[in-house]
Amino acid sequence: MWKSNKVAGLLDKKQKIKREIEKIQKDCNHPTKSLKSIRERVDSHITVIRWVCDDCSKLVGYPSKQETDNFFRE
Ligand SMILES: [Zn+2]
Repeated sequence: MWKSNKVAGLLDKKQKIKREIEKIQKDCNHPTKSLKSIRERVDSHITVIRWVCDDCSKLVGYPSKQETDNFFRE
């Protein structure tokens, strides 16, 4: 029983953290962005190259093929 209580508490915390991140990302103007290697989805092992905001870590764009090629060359 204590396990399910603990999980419920953690899930609640996770929701709160998720909402807080969404709020920060919504308020951010994404002034600077960088190409980063990130996981395609939270539960995915596939990494993809995306433009990510330096301030709030939100995905803000998809790179062109050339931008991706340059990323791997560096
Ligand atoms: Zn941002």
